[in-house]
Amino acid sequence: MSNYDVCIIGGGAAGLAAAATLKDNYRVCILEKNTVPGKKILASGGGRCNITNASAEGLEETVEFFRGLGLELYCDAEGRYYPYSNQSSDVVALLLASINNKNTKINTGFSAGSIRTEGGKFCISDGSREITADKVILAAGGKSYPNLGTTGDGYSMARSLGHQVNRVYPVLAPVECENMPSLKGIRAKGVATLLKDGKPVDSEAGEIQFTEDGVSGICIFNLTMSIKAEEGEKPLEAMKRYEISLDLAPDFTQEEVAARTSSMGIVTERLAQVIKPADLKDYRLKVKGTKGWKQAQCTAGGVDLSQVNMDTMESLLIPGLYITGEVLDVQHKCGGFNLQNAWLTGIKAARHINGI
Ligand SMILES: Cc1cc2nc3c(=O)[nH]c(=O)nc-3n(C[C@H](O)[C@H](O)[C@H](O)COP(=O)(O)OP(=O)(O)OC[C@H]3O[C@@H](n4cnc5c(N)ncnc54)[C@H](O)[C@@H]3O)c2cc1C
Repeated sequence: MSNYDVCIIGGGAAGLAAAATLKDNYRVCILEKNTVPGKKILASGGGRCNITNASAEGLEETVEFFRGLGLELYCDAEGRYYPYSNQSSDVVALLLASINNKNTKINTGFSAGSIRTEGGKFCISDGSREITADKVILAAGGKSYPNLGTTGDGYSMARSLGHQVNRVYPVLAPVECENMPSLKGIRAKGVATLLKDGKPVDSEAGEIQFTEDGVSGICIFNLTMSIKAEEGEKPLEAMKRYEISLDLAPDFTQEEVAARTSSMGIVTERLAQVIKPADLKDYRLKVKGTKGWKQAQCTAGGVDLSQVNMDTMESLLIPGLYITGEVLDVQHKCGGFNLQNAWLTGIKAARHINGI
């Protein structure tokens, strides 16, 4: 059995940022379920890793952190920050380069299953092996994209130590719709509005991508933040309350489009075959559901923030336990905000352990 100063459960965005920030002389162990750390970072931003956003809280700290690793960033016209090289692999490589210079052991293929406190230490086990540590940073991520290692283990570990975990549901996912005409592969600029019981809940402008069974694209992903079943509501029943209205002619009035004989000239020929001019500003789709955990980029819900000191990320229930990243009940729209939450909470936890 090995004992460490700090054990980090999860070698993803929060865990690696924490490890890179911890003092060099600490004996640190990262437990990572996958055979390599940082798999979700590699997949992020379509392989480009949208690291943060110009309007994100703590932006300067994140930019400074990455500069310190040697990674330059650039900001696009929409305020999204990316690595200068546009390669998410560089983000992971530089994080690992910094960690490899320290007294840190990365235990890949270790799936932490349980955590308990005993004699002032934390004991973490995968069922056959056990390690102990004075402090733990819980950085096991959310529940979405389970093929990247995130299967909600952080929630059960937090719960087992007495934390309240608010109901989790998948967000930032494509949406399945009823009776979809065959428009797979078609893209159009417009405004998508989510309606619940016929009333607008949220609206997003951007590129709408038609899929074989629904719609996708960043603006659609963002609308899914508001698609969920209420407590006690059956998911299938809940979904019947939602519709998406597409305005595919946002620069034209209803009178202008209705006066046209064809939608072609505003939308592509293929879309014009399906959508009549009068429907261009309010093309309705009935929501069947989101694509769920497999394709959602983020998990909504998680450890209740009232049980965590958000300046240090230390649990208010269990001293020495730090809760970071997507394990927390923090979720944002697309644009770099979710990774920002992961980096910053990881850095905050490590700084507090460092005594800064
Ligand atoms: C395809 C995709 C693209 C995305 N693109 C962006 C983007 O461009 N910008 C953005 O801001 N956000 C993006 N996100 C969201 C963002 O990646 C996550 O919010 C962020 O990675 C969460 O960081 P985290 O450290 O909490 O968890 P993760 O980065 O998911 O890391 C958690 C790690 O813990 C490991 N783990 C889980 N359980 C255990 C266990 N029991 N034992 C040991 N290890 C365990 C996992 O294998 C994983 O490596 C994207 C998400 C996806 C799925």
